[in-house]
Amino acid sequence: MPSVYLDNNATTQILPEVFEAMRPYFLEKFGNASSLYERGQRARAAVEKSRKAVAALLGADPAEIVFNSGGTEGDNQAIFGLVSAGDHIITSVIEHHAVLNACKRMEELGATVTYLPVDGRGQVSPGDVRAALRRNTKLISVMMANNETGVVQPLEEIGKIAAEADVWFHTDAVQAAGKLPVDVSRIQCDLLSISGHKFNAPQGTGALYVRRGTPMQPLIVGGPQEHNRRGGTENLPGIVGLGKAAGIASHWLADGGAERMAKLRDEFERIAGEQLECIHVHGLGAPRTPNTSDISFDGISGGSLMVALDERDISVSTGSACASGSNHPPYVLLAMGVKRDRAQAAVRFSLGKQTTQEEMDYAQSCLFAEVAKLRKLSPVWNHHNRKKKSSFASAHD
Ligand code: PLP
Repeated sequence: MPSVYLDNNATTQILPEVFEAMRPYFLEKFGNASSLYERGQRARAAVEKSRKAVAALLGADPAEIVFNSGGTEGDNQAIFGLVSAGDHIITSVIEHHAVLNACKRMEELGATVTYLPVDGRGQVSPGDVRAALRRNTKLISVMMANNETGVVQPLEEIGKIAAEADVWFHTDAVQAAGKLPVDVSRIQCDLLSISGHKFNAPQGTGALYVRRGTPMQPLIVGGPQEHNRRGGTENLPGIVGLGKAAGIASHWLADGGAERMAKLRDEFERIAGEQLECIHVHGLGAPRTPNTSDISFDGISGGSLMVALDERDISVSTGSACASGSNHPPYVLLAMGVKRDRAQAAVRFSLGKQTTQEEMDYAQSCLFAEVAKLRKLSPVWNHHNRKKKSSFASAHD
């Protein structure tokens, strides 16, 4: 029985090339990048090489890249580093908790926050961003792609509004970087967070893009590392891995990797729509990351389906990783106006660079069998079945 990993929005496997690039920096090439002797300077050179690769992935200047521990730190840094009591923040209700809880903390400290709604496809309206601007608006923070649905936000329009209003603009690009082209100039953002473990680099690595001239207070103070923007000895092997993964992702994007991945995902959704009645693909019709498919299977719980697939060694998720294990339907789907029952019936399939057609075919055959089994046992499904499922919507609605 093959093992199929379809939870790449939670984390990804380190690519063998990434692991091999890191290995010497744990062993013979270990060193502190701040040391002035040869070993330290070699470590420094490796850090700077990675900085260039990460900058290239984002269309940034290497001097604008600050290495950190990942998406949560980048999001926290952007918000706590810019906002003070009395300031106003504009964000959206579908942000990751790394943004939402940082905003909540700022509210406790005397800032005000506007949480913008999303439409049925999961997108924020740029018009709503404009309408929410106040005299004291300090920061707009809207994510590039959502972790649950993969839906991509109209960032270029939002960036334009932020620039015209002279308000700082941060975007959480954790689920976009390495899967979609990201260009900080086009987005016109001042801050952008990425996380290594979402694109085949190690967990606990990441970076924050900080546009030159952005007056950001460091979140972590200590030594002068990262040009006084983030204290602490650089995670040398991790940074090397992040740089290697960024380089691989840049090539993969240039080589049509995202289009191939989207084809695999779209075909999966197309066949599922043909074979299974009463399924609902969330965010369908909106631009999405190429790897994400969030589907509700009416009449069953996403949790039961996840467990059934896990028994066949197929890893998928219900809600975001931090929320799974709870019975709450994903807040992102509720925000899109999805009814509670249907939101609870959602399962997220997220592909990785290594996902093959064979794996998708196998996962799909298991999925069909398990959905049929669970629906047979579902009183809700059978009740509606008797009523010719009139109260369930049809596939892909
Ligand atoms: N932002 C988004 C959109 C995410 O999906 C995640 C992780 O799931 C994070 C931030 C947090 O990133 P990290 O796990 O690197 O702290």
